[in-house]
Amino acid sequence: MTSTRDEVSVPAASQPGQQDTFDSLDPRTGEAIASYPRHSPEQVEAVVARARRASRWWSDLGFDGRARKLGAWRRLLDTRRDELAAVVSRETGKPMDDARIEGILALDHLHWAAKNARRVLGPRNAAAGLLMINHKATVEYPPVGVVGVLGPWNYPVFTPMGSIAYALAAGNTVVFKPSELTPGVGTWLADTFTEAVGEDAVFQVVTGEGETGGALCRAGVDKVAFTGSTATAKKVMATCAETLTPVLVECGGKDALLVDADADLDDAAAAVVWGSMSNAGQTCVGVERVYVVDAVAEELLDKVAARAAQVRPGGEPDAQYGPITMPSQLDVISGQIDDALDRGGRAVVGGRGSVRAPYVDPVVLADVPEDSSAVTDETFGPTVVVNRVRDLDEAVERANASRYGLGAAVFAKARGHEVARRLRCGMVSVNGVIAFAGIPSLPFGGVGDSGFGRIHGADGLREFTRALSISERRFRSVNVMTFDRPGWVVKVLAKLVSAIYGR
Ligand code: NAD
Repeated sequence: MTSTRDEVSVPAASQPGQQDTFDSLDPRTGEAIASYPRHSPEQVEAVVARARRASRWWSDLGFDGRARKLGAWRRLLDTRRDELAAVVSRETGKPMDDARIEGILALDHLHWAAKNARRVLGPRNAAAGLLMINHKATVEYPPVGVVGVLGPWNYPVFTPMGSIAYALAAGNTVVFKPSELTPGVGTWLADTFTEAVGEDAVFQVVTGEGETGGALCRAGVDKVAFTGSTATAKKVMATCAETLTPVLVECGGKDALLVDADADLDDAAAAVVWGSMSNAGQTCVGVERVYVVDAVAEELLDKVAARAAQVRPGGEPDAQYGPITMPSQLDVISGQIDDALDRGGRAVVGGRGSVRAPYVDPVVLADVPEDSSAVTDETFGPTVVVNRVRDLDEAVERANASRYGLGAAVFAKARGHEVARRLRCGMVSVNGVIAFAGIPSLPFGGVGDSGFGRIHGADGLREFTRALSISERRFRSVNVMTFDRPGWVVKVLAKLVSAIYGR
């Protein structure tokens, strides 16, 4: 099947005067990069209608047919990884290597989703149970239909691909509304899909701000996969409630890294600094709080300070991290540094003067009161709070006291795994940081204000399907589910059940 864009009229960005547009900006300079359409509700509805028409063809391709098409896209993405990295770097300001890593991780997930979709979602037998022994029971997971994806700007490839790749592999068509800060990345992804697959209605992009996102929620999609802030998630849920459209919600976090006395402190310090400062701290699973046991607190702080003092932001392709992509975040970061220091916290590296728009130098704060906004709220900047605790049990208690619950890390030799299991969150790395995100078979998602539902792994594939249960009679036996049943049937059945389950 090959559909064409003239089936519906979706005005292009290049028709001045006819289409309302907005600009994407280079956050390093504030210069406009390109203009994109601000798609109206009617246009979004038309795009979703095209996706609906294409969904039968895509779903009928089956697991193997889709895996072949997704494989063609993966190979194209692989050959053009540097081009994609350049688009990402321009719109987010992040260094080229960080942009390259995003592309590499996304390819890994795309491969896993396509390769495992049949095993996870295909028909399989289920036990019929003693009472229904004359039936064959099967379960399978067909696609929901059309999935609307609302994406953030901080990892504009890796994050939405956690929904897009899994939704496509499961047999859905996708309409993606990238962040208004990164429309070029979203458009690039959809264009390369069309180029590789030869079909332009399976994965489409609409562009615009929150209004366009709201229009996508109302346009008749079968599920919305949202990644962004907790505040926006509540609005998205309220909009989706109007049509009872199910939502997957991936929000922010306040991830903690716990350090026990027997931990390798060099490894832990390296993880604290990279986990909190890479991507300028604009990482949903970035390290924002460290709880270190008293016995090794000073030693860890010295090592963290020595490393953090070496890290420098900049706009060059080989900088260690780039600017704060969303200018309004600079006030949030300054406000939290001020609050921590005003309330008795210590600045071990950097401090109030570290915010130099559009960049923020590394900031390490210590002994910050637990009710300071630097401890309670998502910062999304290259800052970290290091607080000391009596022992690992107190560290768990404090880590779990957050209203967020996305990821976490534990550095410990003896108790790492045990403590990981006690943390109230979705993912934990033991003696590593953010490692779970690079393992495609591991589900990814949070609890509390970090959201619900899962991307990645088998759960991430099932998220974009419905369970379809089928029972099929294999042979006749006494039938309870009929008005014709003899009176003795229920008595015999009751005796049988008591004999089996009543003991
Ligand atoms: P955001 O909430 O501002 O926007 C997210 C998306 O929602 C954007 O595409 C935006 O245009 C759209 N949107 C805004 N208002 C809307 C509305 N009323 N209806 C429908 N759509 C609307 O988030 P952001 O600033 O782009 O991203 C940063 C946030 O995302 C951080 O909190 C970060 O922690 C979180 N995040 C979470 C994950 C995760 O997997 N859990 C991954 C990356 C980022």
